[in-house]
Amino acid sequence: MLYKNLKSLFFLLKWEEIGEVDEDYAPIHTYQVCRVMEQNQNNWLYTNWILTEGAQRVYIELKFTLRDCNSLPGGVGTCKETFNMVLKENRYIKVDTIAADESFTELDLGDRVMKLNTEVRDLGPLTHKGFYLAFQDLGACIALVSVRVFYKRCPFLVKSLAEFPDTIPGSEASQLVEVVGHCVNNSLPLYEPPRMHCSTEGEWLVPIGKCVCKPGYEEISGACQVCKVGFYRSLLESPGCSKCPPHSVARQTGATVCTCEDGYYKIESDPSNMACTRPPSAPRNAISNVNETSVFLEWSIPLETGGRKDIRYNILCRQVLPEGRGLDECGPNVRFLPRRVALSNTSVMVADLQSHTNYSFLLEAVNGVSELAKDHPKQYVSLNVTTNQAAPSPVSVVRKGHTGKSSIALSWAEPDRPNGIILEYEIKYFEKEQDSSYTIIKSKDTEMVVEGLKPSSVYIFQVRARTSAGYGAFSRRFEFQTSPYLLCFSFRRCGYSKAKQDPEEEKMHFHNGHIKFPGVRTYIDPLTYEDPNQAVHEFAQEIDVSSISIERIIGAGEFGEVCCGPLRLPGKREIQVAIKTLKVGYTEQQRRDFLWEASIMGQFNHPNIIRLEGVVTKSKPVMIITEYMENGSLDTFLKKNDGQFTVIQLVGMLRGIASGMRYLSDMGYVHRDLAARNILVNGNLVCKVSDFGLSRVLEDDPEAAYTTRGGKIPIRWTAPEAIAYRKFTSASDVWSYGIVMWEVMSYGERPYWEMSNQDVIKAVEESYRLPGPMDCPEALYHLMMDCWQHERTNRPKFDEIVCLLDKLIRNPSSLKKLVNSSHRYEGKSGSAFTLICIAVLLFRTSFQTKHSIEIYKQKPEKKTQTKAKFIGSVVSFK
Ligand code: AMP
Repeated sequence: MLYKNLKSLFFLLKWEEIGEVDEDYAPIHTYQVCRVMEQNQNNWLYTNWILTEGAQRVYIELKFTLRDCNSLPGGVGTCKETFNMVLKENRYIKVDTIAADESFTELDLGDRVMKLNTEVRDLGPLTHKGFYLAFQDLGACIALVSVRVFYKRCPFLVKSLAEFPDTIPGSEASQLVEVVGHCVNNSLPLYEPPRMHCSTEGEWLVPIGKCVCKPGYEEISGACQVCKVGFYRSLLESPGCSKCPPHSVARQTGATVCTCEDGYYKIESDPSNMACTRPPSAPRNAISNVNETSVFLEWSIPLETGGRKDIRYNILCRQVLPEGRGLDECGPNVRFLPRRVALSNTSVMVADLQSHTNYSFLLEAVNGVSELAKDHPKQYVSLNVTTNQAAPSPVSVVRKGHTGKSSIALSWAEPDRPNGIILEYEIKYFEKEQDSSYTIIKSKDTEMVVEGLKPSSVYIFQVRARTSAGYGAFSRRFEFQTSPYLLCFSFRRCGYSKAKQDPEEEKMHFHNGHIKFPGVRTYIDPLTYEDPNQAVHEFAQEIDVSSISIERIIGAGEFGEVCCGPLRLPGKREIQVAIKTLKVGYTEQQRRDFLWEASIMGQFNHPNIIRLEGVVTKSKPVMIITEYMENGSLDTFLKKNDGQFTVIQLVGMLRGIASGMRYLSDMGYVHRDLAARNILVNGNLVCKVSDFGLSRVLEDDPEAAYTTRGGKIPIRWTAPEAIAYRKFTSASDVWSYGIVMWEVMSYGERPYWEMSNQDVIKAVEESYRLPGPMDCPEALYHLMMDCWQHERTNRPKFDEIVCLLDKLIRNPSSLKKLVNSSHRYEGKSGSAFTLICIAVLLFRTSFQTKHSIEIYKQKPEKKTQTKAKFIGSVVSFK
């Protein structure tokens, strides 16, 4: 706040101007009037014209003494103890009647005590440039010692680099005058112009906004100073000048940016404090992995990344033309997965190349500044690759020709990439929405008439080609309809049916024997415990439910949902687990049966046996916690990934299962329900044996059929002696293992397809065995046939199976000879050929197309096949 005194002179009307001394004998100048003894006093003292200087509210401070009327000698008379203060702008207005807080007496005069009164009055709003003041005496004894007239102001102020001028407040008592500040030299308003508010009391209030030094300057002591050489300031928000980042310079003062040194670059999106960067060097350690007509390229990040994180890779693909005719860019048909350019990972899959062809790949690393660095020589790493033999690409279009009520003529074009000479086509068809049962027929031409169809019915057709490299993938599905009925006739379906059996058909009469567990058992049968709870806690750790979080449901078990989620045990690394729950409302028997499995599983510790983490029995729901197997059960996994694995991968899976079974048999444990559905697969394709228990597993198993004695047996997987007289041994597990081998090599096909259980038993008893799956290595089929020896002592032991599979894995060329060559049906029983003939009967073929009849009529040494699979027709790079 600042005071500004206004100047005034006085005009006297019956007042006197008197020079005096105060109580300290200092000279003072006063205006006095003291006509207390006279009637009708009206004495005026006027100021001259006082200029307001723009102020709308002024303050008047009066200092005066006033005589106590009572102390006057000779009576009071008309004596007054007040006077009036009057304002005149264009007319006279009484401001106030001024009274003294203290009046003086004769005594005070004698003692030279000056009882000085001070009164302040404010006037406003004033509307004129100036005004007069007048003091009216109506008969008092007054000495006016001083009259100070002033107004208040908000003084010049510099705040937040903004100057606010000296400002006169508004006229109203609580009014604020908004003032826009002016940014000091080399500064700018930040976001909005700075403002302050001047109050009537002359105080600056409510600052809004501020100024900041402009780029190239920084604030030091309330002023903006220029940035020194080598320093810069680019953003209004940044507090001060900063040193230029690496590989950049500021050669002059006041730099707002630093410029990059030669050979270094910056892109617009790079922050100003980021170093200048340069393009990367070439990728390193590039390797290729050829799989038929696909190539998987992999490399390491460049040695020199150029100082950036936005590194990407581009692939240049060129075909090496024969006879030294140079190189040609790969055409648009070659696919790059995920893409050809701007790859963020250090690998790419190149598919749909031509078979038996040389290619040259150039791999280049680029980053955000590569585009700017035109002079920077490009650095590549090159890879030369030769593709292999490959199956034909899929047939792309299937057309419908003449359509009859029971036939449809089809034609199609050769696949885009036959990758060899096409030996034949396979046509798969089925009635729409009946895809559990389909028929496969063959043709050497690119057309054929499919006969024996139902009138007025929609059929789905798929075609695939075969070369010496095997089958290509099936074409997409094509839907065609036969013509309407004319005659009424009935027929039955032929071909392979995957349809579910009538449950009655699955029932199996069973005659003999009790379950016997031979050999010395090193695992303890939970039945030997009187209290099943004791068995559980003997072999399974109790887990506190707070260590488990259930994240999602992954399956349905017999007793409740199977979920998965993380398990955090104190002091242990968090792991993902499967959580089997026992649904609410269970009986005591159900709880016992549920925990039974844990009592068995808890006794095992092997990489190919599902590991039990523990149980939750102290809270509800009761849970069994096992390791989590990402790929679920093996049969579903194989069906989902039909043809996707190499033979070595499949043998690796079988080896794992055999190893788990060897462990179980060494422990003296007989599984009795070994089947692909009871094997779980983890994310690394490791297979683990699961589903333990005695009667329970079989009750649980949808494949198990009732016997006359009330027991249930999964007929298709079970050895004849176990079916006939319940001779369950590790040797019967070996039989089941042979069936699992067959399931694996045929990618989850149902053993014996749609044959009834009775037919299966009959066929097996008559020495018929499953034929080798299509393209199954002969060595594996021999092993299967060994597992299916009727005399159980002639079957291999699990340790022999593991040993043999290890040998095959170590020597992959031993897997080259395939079953579907001329030896395909050379089983030890020597009966596989007969099986095909029997199978034709058992499949109850009631009508066959010309082509399908041909298939079954052919000698097995030729192209006879009951089920066609080409392992590896789809490339896998796991
Ligand atoms: P189960 O009670 O063993 O028949 O389990 C039912 C289903 O849950 C199985 O078919 C699997 O799909 C799934 N499942 C069971 N245990 C696991 C596990 N440890 N990891 C992943 N999935 C599992």
